[in-house]
Amino acid sequence: MDYDDYVQAGKIASVARSEGYKMIEENVKLLDVAEYVEDYIRKSGAQIAFPVNLSINNEAAHFTPPPGSDLVFHQGDLVKLDLGAEINGFIADTAVTKEVSTNNWTNLIKASEEALNNAIKKVKVGAMTSEIGREIEATIKRYGYNPVYNLTGHTLEKYLLHAGTSFPNYDDGSRVKLYPGMAFAIEPFATTGRGRVRGLEFGNIMLSLKNESMEYLKDIHKFSRGLPFSMRDLARHFSNYEEIARESEKKKYLYFYPVLKENKGEMVSQTEHTIYLREDGPVVTTL
Ligand code: MN
Ligand code: MN
Repeated sequence: MDYDDYVQAGKIASVARSEGYKMIEENVKLLDVAEYVEDYIRKSGAQIAFPVNLSINNEAAHFTPPPGSDLVFHQGDLVKLDLGAEINGFIADTAVTKEVSTNNWTNLIKASEEALNNAIKKVKVGAMTSEIGREIEATIKRYGYNPVYNLTGHTLEKYLLHAGTSFPNYDDGSRVKLYPGMAFAIEPFATTGRGRVRGLEFGNIMLSLKNESMEYLKDIHKFSRGLPFSMRDLARHFSNYEEIARESEKKKYLYFYPVLKENKGEMVSQTEHTIYLREDGPVVTTL
């Protein structure tokens, strides 16, 4: 049943998140953390719902290390670890922020954490997404920071990571009401900047567009199940993955996610949980 799968995926994602969090230290390779966390999810009986994101400093989201990457974490890095587990199409999506070896951004991290906790307190049947957003913005502003206005939480559906409804990080005036059986991720982003991010360079994460004109596109759709995948996944399935990626980009066979960045170099923190709303209240599956 979907509820049980959401709960089980949430438990796996939660352990994966704390294991990954512990591994983020100075001089450790991003690749080692990403692969460890993805392997952990797979061996726990789930699939990865999307590649492990390790976005640093002004990067808000959508960076994952490419195959063979020797990038390492440095002192002072503000790292967003964002990961997903999926069972029978039901997804847990969760994120945490860690600062490597320094304590310059403790309050920025706390701002997104407390915004998420306060937002969850507002979750009940009949509440509006804009009330939750208002709580997020107010909490982050109390810390003297801004929410990222153009990133949102989202509903989750079977094999669909970003389903129809958005959960804004401010009061956007929407009248969308929460209903029993709704599954969604809330993900406040706090920033020292003005509160906007932009898609800049390619981040090694892509999505099958269900174009099956090429034999390899059929294989890609099969292994990715319509969910985002990474260049590392492509490399696992095809020895000529670089050629496939180049052609797919040129011919727009796949969607390539850009890395979302605060373009003035301002810092960004993120905290995220997945919630299943029952008649009697929210169940935070990724606690
Ligand atoms: Mn996420
Ligand atoms: Mn999310």
